[in-house]
Amino acid sequence: MYVVGLTGGIASGKTTVADLIATKNINLVDADIVAREVVAIGSDGLAQISTHFGPEILLDDGSLNRTLLREKIFSDDTNKQWLNNLLHPMIRAELLAQLAASRSIYTLLVVPLLVENNLTSLCDHVLVVDVEEQVQIERTIARDHVSEQQAKAILQSQASRQQRLADADSVVVNNDRQQLADDVDILHQKFLELAASAVAN
Ligand code: ATP
Repeated sequence: MYVVGLTGGIASGKTTVADLIATKNINLVDADIVAREVVAIGSDGLAQISTHFGPEILLDDGSLNRTLLREKIFSDDTNKQWLNNLLHPMIRAELLAQLAASRSIYTLLVVPLLVENNLTSLCDHVLVVDVEEQVQIERTIARDHVSEQQAKAILQSQASRQQRLADADSVVVNNDRQQLADDVDILHQKFLELAASAVAN
C-alpha cells in the first residue's frame, strides 16, 4: 500500500483536490469521516465517552452531543487529555485498517490536521495544498459565513503555513481552479510512478 497524505489549512482546497483525485480511480480515506465513525451510535468510543461523562453527553437519539463535549474539553484540560487518549489510538487504528483494505495503486489519506496530530508517519508522501493566508481567510468567510475575526482565530489554532510546508514532500498551490486541476494531473502521474517503484523495491 502506498499512502499519499493530503493536508492543508482551513479552506485551502483539500476537498477540491481530493475530489479531483477521486475521479482517477484512487481510493480516499478521510480522517474527518473516521473521527465521526469512532463515536457513532453503537461504537465502543461512544460507550466509553458516555460512561466517563455520564449519559447527559448523549442527545435524545443516542448520538453524541458534540456541543456539550466541546464545552467539557474546552473548560478542562484533563477531560481533553482523556478524550484524546481514547480517540487518537482508535482513529489511527481505523485509518490503518481502511488504508490496508484499499486496493487502488495509491491511496489518498485526507487529514486536515495531519501535521498537528503527528500522522505523517502513516504516509509515504505528504501533499500540502497551499494558499496565502489572506485567501484562506476570504474563502472561509465566503463559505462558512463567519467573521474575519473568527476565520483568523481558526487559522491561529492550526499549524502555521510554514510548519505545514516543512512536512511537505509535494506542494500544490490553489489560486486558480484550472491550474489546480492541471497540477493535480501531473501530481497523480508522479504518485502512480512513486507507488509503482515502491512496489518494485
Ligand atoms: P476545510 O478543511 O475548511 O473543509 P478544504 O481545505 O477542504 O476546507 P475546500 O472545501 O476544497 O477546502 O475549499 C474551500 C472553499 O474555497 C470552498 O468553498 C471552495 O469552493 C473554494 N475554492 C476552492 N478552490 C478555489 C479556487 N481555486 N478559487 C476559488 N475558490 C476556491
